[in-house]
Amino acid sequence: MERSFSGIQPTGDLHIGNYLGAIRNWVDMLDDYDCIFSIVDLHALTLKYDRAQMAQRTLDAVAVNMACGLDPAKCTIFVQSHVKEHAELCWILDSVTPMGELGRMTQFKEKSKQHPENVNVGLFNYPVLQAADILLYKGAVVPVGGDQVQHIEFAREVARRCNSAYGQVFPEPQALLSKVARVMGLDGVNKMSKSLDNHIALTDSPEVIHSKLATAMTDPARKRRTDTGEPTKCNIHSLHQFFSTPEQIRWAEEGCRTAGIGCLDCKKVLADNIAAVLSPIQERYAKIRADMNTVKRAIAEGDERARKIAAAVMTEVRDVLGLYVG
Ligand code: SF4
Repeated sequence: MERSFSGIQPTGDLHIGNYLGAIRNWVDMLDDYDCIFSIVDLHALTLKYDRAQMAQRTLDAVAVNMACGLDPAKCTIFVQSHVKEHAELCWILDSVTPMGELGRMTQFKEKSKQHPENVNVGLFNYPVLQAADILLYKGAVVPVGGDQVQHIEFAREVARRCNSAYGQVFPEPQALLSKVARVMGLDGVNKMSKSLDNHIALTDSPEVIHSKLATAMTDPARKRRTDTGEPTKCNIHSLHQFFSTPEQIRWAEEGCRTAGIGCLDCKKVLADNIAAVLSPIQERYAKIRADMNTVKRAIAEGDERARKIAAAVMTEVRDVLGLYVG
């Protein structure tokens, strides 16, 4: 089986945007790929974070992904900082990476703007560590959203550069684009994100989902119940595509265009559907959280397998680099 590599940061509440854009695809891939999932805690250090919560968030990230269907019996789940070769390979890749290339990265420019008080070297170097994450496992595919394609292209370029400078060692990873390009947040303007507080968390109760949707942005043309609207201009309509039946979607579209339904009716159906999808995930999550040993065991086993693969690849890398290995 081809190997797939994915990373997720332990940054707290995962939301339906993460689920639709990433986690659901990962679960679908379990039978077809040798899937490696890393909780990339080293990447999380590049932004300000709460030390007191980091360890728990790492465990929670694994727990919630397992609740969504990431079965540790079918994949490798590990913590990035537990495999020291990530940092070692990052340094080696640094040495073949021109600084100008990193300065052009869109994510670096955006994050620098968002956090001007904390433009650190780790943020600048982020794509190199990401390339190291993938190449360390000789990942053939990397499932990503559109905003990460530039980083995968970068990893391909780094692999090519190493192969031509030192000798063939890395395959060039391919981006496997998510079918869901972008899930917009409840503000209807930005991508769904916890930091922008425009999200529905996977752990939100039905009441919270209803209240969050009640204030969510709709087609601005529908100021009153009697105004007609255009569903394609409304983010609630786009969320219906993921959670509602074809009949419900038709009902919402017709009702919106003829003012036959109000936005609250439309949002209520969506809220019920989202709650129904999240309910079994939340039940599994509650069970897993009640016995975190399951999560710790999954990580310990994943760490061990990841270390074995990483150690073997680094032996090859040191050899092609010509380092004295004793
Ligand atoms: Fe949006 Fe539904 Fe209101 Fe139309 S009826 S504007 S699709 S929430």
